[in-house]
Amino acid sequence: MNYYDDNFGEYEIESQNDVDFYFATQRKSVRKKCSICGQTVKLLPHYDKCDRCIRILENGGDPYY
Ligand SMILES: [Zn+2]
Repeated sequence: MNYYDDNFGEYEIESQNDVDFYFATQRKSVRKKCSICGQTVKLLPHYDKCDRCIRILENGGDPYY
C-alpha cells in the first residue's frame, strides 16, 4: 500500500513504524503554498517546496516554467 505526502512524496509502508511516521508527519504539516508551483500543499512548517518540485529540481529540471 502506498501513502502520499507532500513533504516526501510516495511512501512504501512496510511496517507500523512507517505508518506512525506518516501520520505524525501529516499531523505536523500545515497548509501552505509551494514557493515554486504555487499549489496549496500540506508541508511541515520548515518546508516551503512540495515534493513534486523538489523531484524536478533533483532531476535537473526546471519546475518554474
Ligand atoms: Zn511545488
